[in-house]
Amino acid sequence: MASLAVFDFDRTVVDGDSDATIINRLREKQPPPEWEASNYDWTPYMSDVFEHAYSAGLSQADILDSIASMRPTPGLEELIKTLAAAGWDVLILTDANTVFVNHWLKVHGLLEHVTSVVTNRAFWQNGRLFIEPHMHQTACPRCPSNLCKSLALAQWCAQRPPYSNVFYAGDGRNDFCPATSLPPHATVFPRRGYPLDDLIKKTLASPNPQIKAKVVPWDDCYRILQETFPGKTNSIV
Ligand SMILES: [Mg+2]
Ligand SMILES: [Zn+2]
Repeated sequence: MASLAVFDFDRTVVDGDSDATIINRLREKQPPPEWEASNYDWTPYMSDVFEHAYSAGLSQADILDSIASMRPTPGLEELIKTLAAAGWDVLILTDANTVFVNHWLKVHGLLEHVTSVVTNRAFWQNGRLFIEPHMHQTACPRCPSNLCKSLALAQWCAQRPPYSNVFYAGDGRNDFCPATSLPPHATVFPRRGYPLDDLIKKTLASPNPQIKAKVVPWDDCYRILQETFPGKTNSIV
């Protein structure tokens, strides 16, 4: 039977946040003040950021170099390579974008170990980066219209064989919705001290917890390795 590992990207695969990395690079370029004006939807907001990055002279190479320089969370490379070698499907499910995620995975030698990346589509046109919402959903009230990770995960799984083992590793608020949709035999790995960890703690302390899966908080990916391949990681941890 097949096994599936699902990873969020920002603050899970990479230690930092890819959008924030580019926003910080843009701040160095002193863009006009209005670009930080509030925009409630993240995808159009990032689209504005990319437009200003382009006008401020932040080149494609600058942006890609900033993304490539993001550090993996400790143990991540070993974890993904071990999963792939053991025949697991590895899915990256994120509200970042295809350009950032694919570039980072390629530079870090992980693209070939990842089965699929599900995220907002981005593309370059004349040196400017454009981003499109992954979906337009109204079915899930707790997620933004461009991405409900539960919905995206269900759609992706519908095209795959049934999985006997499933785990989900993430850190953010938008990882809570998919965490609630995991079956009891699955494991959710919330990054300790981050919003997903807090939301899970809250629901588990309530009379009707929304989480059915096993919960294992993590500080680094060696913890996930240890839980997924017990006994195999003695030399690493
Ligand atoms: Mg995240
Ligand atoms: Zn949702």
